[in-house]
Amino acid sequence: MERQKQGRAPAYRLDRHADDCVQCGHCDRRCPFGVVQTARMREIAAYFG
Ligand code: SF4
Repeated sequence: MERQKQGRAPAYRLDRHADDCVQCGHCDRRCPFGVVQTARMREIAAYFG
């Protein structure tokens, strides 16, 4: 796979990262699965530093 050839997780190539989330809550209101995305973004930002 292309990802494996590059040897880096795709997130490292993104222009934006979890700590860019401004906690506006838009995706919390829109998610059809009820995922509290604002909380997930905080967790992801804490995990990746
Ligand atoms: S809460 Fe959702 S829509 Fe708002 S900035 Fe964060 S990720 Fe984007």
